[in-house]
Amino acid sequence: TPLDELIASHAVEIPDFPQPGVVFRDLTPVFADGPAFRRMVEGLAAPSLVDPRAAALATPGRGDPGYDVVVGVEARGFLLAAAVALEAGVGVVPVRKAGKLPRERLSADYTLEYGTATLEVHTDSLTPGQRVLLVDDVLATGGTLGASIQLVEALGGVVVAVSVVIELAELAGRQRLAPHAVHALWTT
Ligand code: 5GP
Repeated sequence: TPLDELIASHAVEIPDFPQPGVVFRDLTPVFADGPAFRRMVEGLAAPSLVDPRAAALATPGRGDPGYDVVVGVEARGFLLAAAVALEAGVGVVPVRKAGKLPRERLSADYTLEYGTATLEVHTDSLTPGQRVLLVDDVLATGGTLGASIQLVEALGGVVVAVSVVIELAELAGRQRLAPHAVHALWTT
């Protein structure tokens, strides 16, 4: 099965969740299916998915995935980012909702498809010049990933690509994140 069909067949559409008028894509069935989960993680981690611009930054050598660290966004992004990092042989850094990180941190406010929120990152979690693969489950309006990019770049990180499982094209998140490269396993 092609990866986009695999994702499409496992994602469940929930009308009017968490608010009337919103169609929520529930990905928990993909996470729960071992072979599907593996293919999803491999797709997100694949070096071929990384922005060609990253190739110029990549240290030539076997085994370089094109990024030095995976940044995952709370909470469903955590389920993916840790697995992607393990697959790629790099570390993982959490971007968390406000109030969760204990040490010196940087904050960014953002607007969601439904509501507003604040994301935070530990200031010492990235070193300047580190190549970052940013991972989340769904790209909707791009508010969440846009704020995450702000945080990564404020710490000197270089976002080489953004990998998501589902891109909701009509919400134009890809345009909002431009010029960063967005790689979606399934665009709908
Ligand atoms: P955005 O900030 O791009 O508008 O919304 C993306 C964030 O909200 C992601 O962190 C994602 O987890 C969550 N989200 C928005 N819509 C959906 C959806 O339909 N399904 C899932 N699983 N998450 C969503």
